[in-house]
Amino acid sequence: MLDFNNVTVRYDEAEDPAVDGLTMQIAKGEFVCVLGRSGAGKSTFIRTINGLQPLTGGSVTALGYELGGLDQKKLRQLRSEIGMIFQHFSLIPRMTVRQNVYTGRFGKRSSYRNYLGLFTEEEKQLTSYFLEEVGLLPYADRRVERLSGGQKQRVGIARAMVQEPSILLGDEPVASLDPTTSDHIFQLLRQLHEERELTTVINVHDVELAKKYASRIIGLKQGRLVFDGSPDDMSKAD
Ligand code: ADP
Ligand code: ADP
Repeated sequence: MLDFNNVTVRYDEAEDPAVDGLTMQIAKGEFVCVLGRSGAGKSTFIRTINGLQPLTGGSVTALGYELGGLDQKKLRQLRSEIGMIFQHFSLIPRMTVRQNVYTGRFGKRSSYRNYLGLFTEEEKQLTSYFLEEVGLLPYADRRVERLSGGQKQRVGIARAMVQEPSILLGDEPVASLDPTTSDHIFQLLRQLHEERELTTVINVHDVELAKKYASRIIGLKQGRLVFDGSPDDMSKAD
């Protein structure tokens, strides 16, 4: 499903590569947590998967597409298959929960009508389904700026899920949340993963969360792979 072959990313000014010769595969239905200190290359790594991050060397193949050579149309197609959630949620604060979720499906093509908060019955049903799943249906018409951090991330997750992605990526999605809320968010991610065999790859710096929820843990240090195994293997390595 995801194939990394000697992937290297070096930022212009940097002496050392941010990601340094990573080779690995991720299979359909894995729940992978990427662990590492700040600056280890987690964010860079995850952004190579949807083509947000140009490579200095090597290649990434996602869902059968080799990312390097894609034209705009293919890249859009691939990205529609990949949902993403972010540390700072990346929501539109003044729009409602439902409007934000809707943009996950139709992006910039969301019409002025949706911008005004008007939805057809079908659009309402679709968004309500995913809002229900993340436990936010009662908040559908609330502006996201009025929500708690945990609720905002739930909106982020619903926005990703409304794409009906094959892969879900998370770039430190709980780094701004308190431990209890973080645990709730991981519970939800795990549940979505199990319900649809969703391939999930999430950056996290909290080892305990990774051990509790991941089926596989990948450890990065200075852009290199330093651990790849199950949470049990990790406990043995401690
Ligand atoms: P992590 O997500 O593990 O914190 P990053 O992928 O953000 O790691 O960063 C890896 C390395 O690349 C760090 O040394 C960081 O300073 C550097 N880096 C990240 N983004 C940029 C950028 N846009 N330009 C230059 N250097 C960057
Ligand atoms: P916070 O408590 O900071 O708002 P949480 O992620 O714990 O963040 O919860 C966000 C909201 O989602 C809660 O206020 C609650 O309304 C709802 N919620 C939490 N857990 C569930 C659940 N298991 N089922 C349904 N709704 C939930």
